[in-house]
Amino acid sequence: MRRPITHDQRLKKLRGGRARDDAAYDRGRRAKCPALSSAARIRGSARWKAVRAEKRRRDPLCQMHEARGATVEASSVDHIKPLATHPELAFVMSNLMSLCEPCHAKKSAQERMAR
Ligand SMILES: [Zn+2]
Repeated sequence: MRRPITHDQRLKKLRGGRARDDAAYDRGRRAKCPALSSAARIRGSARWKAVRAEKRRRDPLCQMHEARGATVEASSVDHIKPLATHPELAFVMSNLMSLCEPCHAKKSAQERMAR
């Protein structure tokens, strides 16, 4: 029986010779602003796009509006615990919230002030 390969091994296989260059590039970026660059990498990933699409399919309405009994279509998916401080929760459904643009802007502004 073939042993299943790990996620890392599959990544290496997919990226081939580029893996080392990418790692060096990431190290350079992380040195400048560690939390932000890893958040940007997550946001650009195919995995995040798939998780975000799944969340919007499950919760098409803005959950902050919904909590107040209002029905507004969501336009984005937000991390309840921010990516910058909780990258390990990036793909955890229970850490995601569907939001409309005004609610998303409000929450992001509050997070910036809290920092
Ligand atoms: Zn809203």
